[in-house]
Parts: sequence; C-alpha cells; structure tokens
Amino acid sequence: MKLQRLVNANFTKEKTMESMKQIIRDIPDFPKKGIIFKDITPLLSNPAAFQKTINLLKYRYIDKMVSAVVGVEARGFIFASALAYALGVGVVMVRKPGKLPYKTFKETYSLEYGTDTIEIHQDAFRSGQNIVVIDDVLATGGTMAATLNLIQKHFENLNIIEATFLIELDFLKGREKLNGIPIYSMIHY
Ligand code: AMP
Repeated sequence: MKLQRLVNANFTKEKTMESMKQIIRDIPDFPKKGIIFKDITPLLSNPAAFQKTINLLKYRYIDKMVSAVVGVEARGFIFASALAYALGVGVVMVRKPGKLPYKTFKETYSLEYGTDTIEIHQDAFRSGQNIVVIDDVLATGGTMAATLNLIQKHFENLNIIEATFLIELDFLKGREKLNGIPIYSMIHY
C-alpha cells in the first residue's frame, strides 16, 4: 500500500514535470544567434503551473528550517519571493552592480566576452542561518558559482541547503562549477 502510494506520487511528479516542459517555451536565437532561450513567462502567467512550482519547492524545504531564500537577479527574484512567502521567511537579493542602496560585498566573474559583477548587502544574513539560493535557469553555472562564492567568502557559519533551479540545461555542465553545494533542478533538458 505504502509502496503503491510512493509509485503514484512519483508518477504524478513525472506527469507534472512533463506538463511543465510543455508550458515552457523555446525561443531560438535569443538574445543572440545559437542560443535557445527557455522562456518561463507562459509558466508564470499560468496560475496552476506557477502554484504547482511553488508548492513543490515549498514541500521540499518546509521541514529544513530555512531562514531565508536568496534570489538571483532578475528572474530568480520571482521564485525566491513566492517561495519565501510560502515558507514564512524573508528574501535576500543578489543584484547587478549599483542597485543595492546599503553597503555591499561584490563578486566579479567571467563571461564569454568580458566580466560581470554581482552584489549583496553586507547585513544580508546572520550567523547560523540556513538558506536556499534560487535562480530560474542553470546554464553554464557562472552566475550561480559567483553567487555562492560571494556568499561563502563574506558570511561565516551559514548553511547553504541547496542551490535551486526551475530548469537545468544538463549539456552545459553548469553543475560542475558549483562544487560541493547540493543542487536541485525541477526540470532537466
Ligand atoms: P549561467 O551563468 O550561464 O548559468 O546563466 C545563468 C543565467 O542566465 C540565468 O540567470 C538565466 O536566467 C540566464 N540564462 C542562461 N541561459 C539561458 C537560456 N538558455 N534560457 C533562459 N535563460 C538563460
């Protein structure tokens, strides 16, 4: 009976993931030639799909004593704030340079051409907190690697429960850049 329930639950989860994949839209050659952009806006505007996404994450973390959810600019903010609300905790923003008003820590990282920088407020966390860090897509892993470096370099005694993504592009092997941090991606391509 218990096994059957487990099988049913997994089957439902598989079906949910498949239906999510149907909702996410591929935009070829955006923002530049050769990139297939995973457009999540149809999922965000679909009430049942968005609610399912947040509920799935909520029940993944509900018993993990999460103290804060970290969102990576910009689409990460959407999932971070909904999940934080569902868990009854606060949101921390990792932002592009010049956007945060208070004192910040910064991390600069390499892109295909040039570099980029991200920032976080110096008072974003307290010692001993358990955090989940969330973004919409794990592609090459550069953005999340920089985010995790930024957090680990400047905040002591912080437990990163997981780096969480709605979508992981497996063929780009981004997870290899996030050494040591548990990763959860809802949907894989
Ligand atoms: P990366 O640093 O390569 O892992 O890229 C991560 C960031 O770029 C994420 O915040 C995504 O929002 C965005 N991104 C990269 N590739 C894609 C893609 N194919 N479709 C949608 N968003 C992407």
